[in-house]
Amino acid sequence: MKVKIIKGTNQIGGCITEIESKSARIIIDFGEDLPSDEVKDCHENPMIDGLTTGKRKYDAVFITHSHGDHIGLIDYILEDISVYVEKESKKIYELLNKFTYKNTRFKTTDMEFNKPITIKDMKITLFRIDHSSYNSGMILIESNGKKILHTGDYRNHGRKGGLFTSTLNKIGEVDLLITEGTTFGRKDEKYKTEEDLELLASHEFKKYNQIFILQASTNIDRIVTFYKASKKAHKVFIEDIFTANITNILNSNIPTPKKFNDVYAWIPLKYQDKPKKFKDKYFLPFEDRCNSMIVANDFTMLVKTSMLKDIKMLKEKGVITNACLIYSMWEGYLEKKSFKDFIDGIKDLGISFKIIHTSGHGDNTARKIVNEITKPKKVIPIHTENKEIAKEVFKNAIILDDNEILEI
Ligand SMILES: [Zn+2]
Ligand SMILES: [Zn+2]
Repeated sequence: MKVKIIKGTNQIGGCITEIESKSARIIIDFGEDLPSDEVKDCHENPMIDGLTTGKRKYDAVFITHSHGDHIGLIDYILEDISVYVEKESKKIYELLNKFTYKNTRFKTTDMEFNKPITIKDMKITLFRIDHSSYNSGMILIESNGKKILHTGDYRNHGRKGGLFTSTLNKIGEVDLLITEGTTFGRKDEKYKTEEDLELLASHEFKKYNQIFILQASTNIDRIVTFYKASKKAHKVFIEDIFTANITNILNSNIPTPKKFNDVYAWIPLKYQDKPKKFKDKYFLPFEDRCNSMIVANDFTMLVKTSMLKDIKMLKEKGVITNACLIYSMWEGYLEKKSFKDFIDGIKDLGISFKIIHTSGHGDNTARKIVNEITKPKKVIPIHTENKEIAKEVFKNAIILDDNEILEI
């Protein structure tokens, strides 16, 4: 098989991997670059011949998870190329696009965990893995006696961390490992688990009456963490309406206003002008569980940077007495203007500010487990700004540049 990292040997996010066997050619992940600033348009067509332009040269595209840096550009893929996406990840992706008005292709093919898909002489299997995006997967490609594992994004300190070793054992030894290396530069630091965060958060939540949380709506592990902490601190839990829609569509026991009697929804002021059709579809189902229906003085509320007006309004109404904003995302985003403006506005309202977070990506302990179990003959680091550091854990690391070809 031949492997080419079209993009991703020198950057975090926006990685595109091409794998070719004797008769098939596929792509793994097709996402946007992570924005380095707010001016750059990350949603441009990358213009790949046979994939997004010209005549079809690829058999299929497989997506590891619903983060924008892995799925965000699939609307540019030629109509006659199948795009395989895990079912729950697809639901999240669709909803995200409905709320953000991005044009997108929703015609994808469902892919289930542990159920192989055959494309000519390739067998492709998705395995569930722990990451900060719900139902993330690693992809195993088998062809002509060779095995390639593409890890997607992974960690082992989240709520699915217990599956990590058993999943890797199912996959077994591989000829080539293509691994993400987001945290390569961060050395041996051992990351906090979601359970550690839950304990920390429940202590903090007890110090305040109102808690606001800035976190990704698609990070379901974190929603569960903060819901549990909020419950321990005897507060009701309020999800902004976008998050409420996400938690409502997923097939599991995730805190959502539709199923939990201590969970409510908040429709932000910025959505007042949405068309009736949109409101009927996404707001109406939560009608008896939102805004004026919330009676508690002590609450935990998931917010967005676009919700400063809402928080100001609550302050003016005397609802906010002793409040704290918890920041629970990658600290790099704090440099963005929209985040700075929001947090400055929060502080002006006399609301405290704290960071409670753990990474969506694994530390060195996770990487060592991957290396020990899959015993890769060769390793290509991607999704990193420090690819040379791969050699510290993976002695068989091969340092490639974008578009270089490796044959196994
Ligand atoms: Zn990523
Ligand atoms: Zn991710």
